[in-house]
Amino acid sequence: MKPEDAVGLVFALVIGVAVLAIYIGLIVLGVKIAIRKNRSPHWMWFAIHPVGLIITLIVMASLPPLKRCPQCGNTTPERARLCGFCGYNYEAAFMAQQPGVYMPPPQPNVYIPPQR
Ligand SMILES: [Zn+2]
Repeated sequence: MKPEDAVGLVFALVIGVAVLAIYIGLIVLGVKIAIRKNRSPHWMWFAIHPVGLIITLIVMASLPPLKRCPQCGNTTPERARLCGFCGYNYEAAFMAQQPGVYMPPPQPNVYIPPQR
């Protein structure tokens, strides 16, 4: 083994480790974006393939964030007024947090048949 071969081998090893570190760093970035937007980080499994990494990062960065329902834990679009799963009212909860705003107590969702 010639000394030039050893230098080339070390150089290739350093380049390989650097590329792998950047690749894993981009996957971690995608997972952090997904968690910040309340989306599933499992979408980043597409990043096993380098093209999947690029596509998933672009899609994850461009998708709007979701908000998590404090009552049932499911996610709904950011502009939703009610939770699509349990009917939690986001606006009433927001208004109840504002000082000086009267909010009537929540009424139970009981059907009252009309009187005859
Ligand atoms: Zn809910």
